[in-house]
Amino acid sequence: MTHSNYERLHVNLKKLKLERIEEMLDNYLETVLKENKPVMEILDHLVNEQYMVNQQNYLDTKMRLALFPYKKVFDDFDFSFQPSIDKQVVEDLCTMRFIHNAENVILLGPPGVGKTHLAIALGIEAIKAGLSAYFTTTHNLIKKLQNANKNGKLESRLRALCRHKLVIVDEIGYLPISEEEANLFFQFVTRRYERGSIIITSNRSFGDWGKVFHDDVLASALLDRLLHHSTIINIQGESYRLKEKIECGLFEHNKGEK
Ligand code: ADP
Ligand code: MG
Repeated sequence: MTHSNYERLHVNLKKLKLERIEEMLDNYLETVLKENKPVMEILDHLVNEQYMVNQQNYLDTKMRLALFPYKKVFDDFDFSFQPSIDKQVVEDLCTMRFIHNAENVILLGPPGVGKTHLAIALGIEAIKAGLSAYFTTTHNLIKKLQNANKNGKLESRLRALCRHKLVIVDEIGYLPISEEEANLFFQFVTRRYERGSIIITSNRSFGDWGKVFHDDVLASALLDRLLHHSTIINIQGESYRLKEKIECGLFEHNKGEK
């Protein structure tokens, strides 16, 4: 190989954005040529290294775009602390069948029982499975829809939200929702109905949703769409946040936290 060949190879690898190959080429070639490795094996190794880097970058980008508030995975979740959760149901959700079928997941329960943790863990699994996910709180989602509506861009905002295979809407029921806000949220749910999955977390039982949305009719229309194809996980347990305090006897069960 001439010097100009060598230079052109490095320049072209950079231009083609095969940076990993470009970076490892010299050292790797030096080693494998000494070992007399077959060309096919050398090529395969280099291309595979580049592929793995690309794949990791792709996952990192999707994770960033998902806007998870923090990283929580199933391995960190202590199922023995929440025996009301049927692990088989969660394992079935991990197959991502529910996303392929545009079904919803509703995680209900008091604060601290792991609803957001499980929602994020499912979102991360979805991304690992090559699907796209987007995390938002109910409050942020509604604020974004309101802004879009004010600027005449509601339609394009709803369309953008539908591009994600999975949208996680965290915390229905913590903050009051006005009539206008409830209507915007209804439009979001209607738009995704049978087209894309939603995971919802809420500390309020379905019976309370009329109060949350200040409108019984709208709440039941919402639930009708959300629950039609859905998995409901109703967690009835203690707050994990208070686990240690409960263990030390500093708190009585189910008390002391919003
Ligand atoms: P919720 O959304 O139900 O209010 P979170 O998911 O925010 O509760 O959980 C509160 C904290 O406790 C988080 O840091 C979460 O990772 C942790 N946590 C909750 N349940 C468990 C569990 N069973 N195993 C491990 N960590 C848990
Ligand atoms: Mg939560």
